[in-house]
Amino acid sequence: MTPVLRSYSHDTWQEGGGPARPLRDAATGEVVARLPATGPDPAAMLDHARRVGGPALRALTFTQRAAILKALARHLSDHAAEFAELSTRTGATRRDTAVDVQGGIGTLAVYASKAAAELPDAVVLADGPVEPLGRGGTFAGRHVLAPRLGAAVQINAFNFPVWGMLEKFAPAFLAGMPSVVKPAGPTAYLTELVVRRMTESGMLPEGTLSLLCAGPAGLLEGLTAQDTLSFTGSAATALKLRTHPAVAGRAVPFNAEADSLNCSVLGPDVTADDPEFTLFVDQIVTEMTVKAGQKCTAIRRAFIPAALADAVTEALAERLRRVVVGHPGRPDTDMGPLAGLEQREEVRAAVAGLAAEAKTVFGDPLRVDAAGADPERGAFVSPILLRCDDPSAAAPHEIEAFGPVSTLLPYTGLDEVAAAAARGGGSLAGSIVTADAQVARTLVDGLAPWHGRLLVLNRDDAAESTGHGVAMPQLVHGGPGRAGGGEELGGLRALHHYMRRTAVQGHPGFLAGLA
Ligand code: NAP
Repeated sequence: MTPVLRSYSHDTWQEGGGPARPLRDAATGEVVARLPATGPDPAAMLDHARRVGGPALRALTFTQRAAILKALARHLSDHAAEFAELSTRTGATRRDTAVDVQGGIGTLAVYASKAAAELPDAVVLADGPVEPLGRGGTFAGRHVLAPRLGAAVQINAFNFPVWGMLEKFAPAFLAGMPSVVKPAGPTAYLTELVVRRMTESGMLPEGTLSLLCAGPAGLLEGLTAQDTLSFTGSAATALKLRTHPAVAGRAVPFNAEADSLNCSVLGPDVTADDPEFTLFVDQIVTEMTVKAGQKCTAIRRAFIPAALADAVTEALAERLRRVVVGHPGRPDTDMGPLAGLEQREEVRAAVAGLAAEAKTVFGDPLRVDAAGADPERGAFVSPILLRCDDPSAAAPHEIEAFGPVSTLLPYTGLDEVAAAAARGGGSLAGSIVTADAQVARTLVDGLAPWHGRLLVLNRDDAAESTGHGVAMPQLVHGGPGRAGGGEELGGLRALHHYMRRTAVQGHPGFLAGLA
């Protein structure tokens, strides 16, 4: 009998109710766990977090919270092998697990060490200097940041069941807010395991972490301005949450990280013999195949000089032919399956939409060989490369295929690239592959207003580059418009989402001692 996932509420594991739906192994279709339709009462869960978790966290200083996170990161590292084993069932290869599991624990550790080094041993943060407001020097103002008094509700996507939770939990915990986590259904069993290990550690004060393994019904209705709502997922769900009467009506602080049509640009200076050509091709293949392309930051649109279009197409097709698609547990597998059959149907539908305006130059969305697995029972799909030579086509700038899918878009002049990239409506990550600093500068200036993060890649920084798709805890993750309009990570600035910034006016002597 497969386990039915439980929720963690009131510091105990509780059973849910209603019909439990099967959550399947991405590669074999076997049932891994079952997810109940309903969990413990979300209103009571939020109440416990606010009444017990919030005060317990606010009684600790930033330094004390950082010490707990540091110990927690070490504790989770001790369990990394157990997480990796279960991660395989989500379709993750060893490389994919490194991004999700080790990447998540690493994010926790970075937050712990940055907070220990950069935050005071205090409970309130000063934001900026004391600003004189009177000629006589007796009256001034200063901004302070104090934790909000409610619960930090975190709704996550299926593709990063570990990283997605920890990158939100860490700044909320440091800021002084208890987390209420709702993982996405398909991979909730991995989030549940990590939360079990976090709570068993005994390191977390009571009420500071709750987990809802069930549908989201009832989670939003009681939110107030002292709570926060952080969301990662599709743009369609982001819109529903943003306009929810409780969220909009009570001005609940809301952050969204949604899908985006990220781009990479190959500079016009690059020839087929330059190292940048190979870097570009390698990067596209990496972004298509890591997590089988189920990364919100993956390259969906590749802008290439028209003169190099055939050379890039051939080089990419040649590289993609060598990608071994197979069971994620096999050491020779380059790319595992999608998270589930439902996701594969969505990818196939999106590819059909793209193919209406672009030519498929590699891969068949309906056929793939899978090493060590049945390609039909598992959610396997071939890498799909498309090419669209029509600059007026709309589909590549509008349709996100959340899988191993990219479209090549030849351009003739650098001046068209920024405008074409902007047709994506706002993206999380972009990259520029060029050895020419002037090309890089022109594109950074043109792309920055529409992007959360930009990578300039060339022979000088490639060896140490963290790559196009990897969100770093030190840097902003988020993007304008379609990408959700939010900001996460970006170092300790991420704490601000969980704190209220208040201007305090008074005598400068009093203000100086505030934080
Ligand atoms: P999704 O369908 O929007 O679901 C995301 C989360 O929202 C899930 O936990 C889901 O719960 C929950 N949800 C759905 N409807 C809800 C509602 N009415 N009220 C409250 N919660 C609700 O997205 P997905 O399919 O899991 O994730 C794939 C998408 O996420 C892709 O488009 C990808 O680009 C995007 N993504 C973005 C980022 C980023 O950082 N920007 C990262 C990863 C993924 P259930 O699972 O229970 O339905």
